[in-house]
Amino acid sequence: TMQLTLALHRAQRLFPDKTAVVFAERRWTYTQFLDRVARLAGVLKGLGFQPGDRVAMLSHSSDRYLEFFFAAFWAGGIAVPVSTRYALPETTFLMQDCGAKVLLVGDDFVEMAEALKPQCPDLAHMIHAGEGPCPAGMIAYDAALAGAEPAPDARRGGDDIAVLFYTGGTTGRSKGVMLTHTNCMANSFGGMVHTKLDSSVVGLHAGPLYHAAAGSRVFTNTLLGATHVVIPRFTVKGVLEAIQTHRITMTSMVPTMMTMILNEPDLDRYDLSSLQLIGYGGAPMPVATLEALIQRLPHVRFAQAYGMTELSPACTYLEPADHSLDPAKVHRLASGGRAIVGCDIRVVDENDRDVPVGQIGEIIVAGATVMKGYWGQPEMTAEALRGGYMHTGDAGYLDADGYLFVSDRIKDMIVTGGENVYSIEVENAVLTHPAIRECAVIGVPHDIWGEAVHAVVTFKAGQSATAEEIIAHCKTRIAGFKCPQTIEVRDEMPLSQANKILKTALRSPHWEGRA
Ligand code: ATP
Ligand code: MG
Repeated sequence: TMQLTLALHRAQRLFPDKTAVVFAERRWTYTQFLDRVARLAGVLKGLGFQPGDRVAMLSHSSDRYLEFFFAAFWAGGIAVPVSTRYALPETTFLMQDCGAKVLLVGDDFVEMAEALKPQCPDLAHMIHAGEGPCPAGMIAYDAALAGAEPAPDARRGGDDIAVLFYTGGTTGRSKGVMLTHTNCMANSFGGMVHTKLDSSVVGLHAGPLYHAAAGSRVFTNTLLGATHVVIPRFTVKGVLEAIQTHRITMTSMVPTMMTMILNEPDLDRYDLSSLQLIGYGGAPMPVATLEALIQRLPHVRFAQAYGMTELSPACTYLEPADHSLDPAKVHRLASGGRAIVGCDIRVVDENDRDVPVGQIGEIIVAGATVMKGYWGQPEMTAEALRGGYMHTGDAGYLDADGYLFVSDRIKDMIVTGGENVYSIEVENAVLTHPAIRECAVIGVPHDIWGEAVHAVVTFKAGQSATAEEIIAHCKTRIAGFKCPQTIEVRDEMPLSQANKILKTALRSPHWEGRA
């Protein structure tokens, strides 16, 4: 069966003395990594942990975070990474929802963990994974490991749940997504095929491991027998420094992080020559930003994935060869790429009938990466998975070569005067204006047309433009009815816990008091 712990067994056998994990001053070989995981599983068993039980992680990224993922699998359980951006009520809700028995607690989260514990009856034990002194009532990580016997691998796999990743929370409350061992491994294999990775990878975990986009790379890099480099959390300088120091060959990011890297004034001061591949996805990638990055980092290959937590998370790849500025191919930069091996992608109407090539409909996906379901939500699961296809809630179209173009979230689509306007197309037009750094297009109420197209923008440092200039610029690129009627300038965009622009927050002031 597909079993994530086999990744560790293999890597340890093939590369026993290779550096598996680097975090700050700590480095572990694959032999040490496996031994620590087996001991940690022994600690869990000593705490009465049973197969199928949940262990949650509330910590910034570290070597211990990676060990905890695999110890959960080794002990036959389910890993639940928890957002570090949540306030206490949200974290408490998540902990109650997943019913974790054990919680890994990072230094910055001790207070929160102590506050939520009395409200979480299933939560029996907390393991302190920070660098500071171990708080009373928590188990000290290293001491527990040193005193534990390595447990035998519980050998759970296949359709057993490996991870509960919570969705990005862009459109509402996050949902717990049950991903099986098979789901996670199928996703990793797809990534390897489409980006041609091997054990020489020195991979930087740049994004938050509680989000599937970054968390899934932990599995891919272990399956490869690659070296994991972990930094506590994303900062532009932290990422650039880590690439230079550790001779990183690949990393992955969401588009907002790519925009931040591109706009870093000191970018040229870093030696990024080791970097071979940047994987990105998780939100629409502005084409103008992507073109600028391709020009700015000519030695780097790029690969885009489109997907969602429910798809483990990738269902397409736009391969490095498709990241070309050649006029015959450049239109592909607006695409999420083609279906990964083992996945079928369709575009359908409201009755799940396929629409013709080039026509926009809902994107639906079948394959080995489709989730087992939403945790504790059988009705929502049946609705999402009807007909054996995951209904993504995203609108898009396929071209004649099978490239998928994502147009919008169906919930974000704007209907103005009876015409559908898809925000990604408008955003891409606005973003070709040289002064604009970020753009989010939303529908705002309009007495005659129902909704009007409204663009929220931020400017690049030291630059600006008037609303008239921006609108006039758009009119040279897209049809008049798609162009923003109004422009709103902000200093920065509200971001979700997965660093996506929160359109719900941009929309709500405009819709207050209306239906
Ligand atoms: P929630 O479901 O909680 O509202 P979310 O949908 O943002 O949050 P994720 O699973 O993190 O949660 O994100 C999946 C969504 O992100 C997709 O449905 C799609 O709208 C968007 N997305 C992901 N990758 C891409 C991409 N490459 N291009 C465009 N959009 C993307
Ligand atoms: Mg979603």
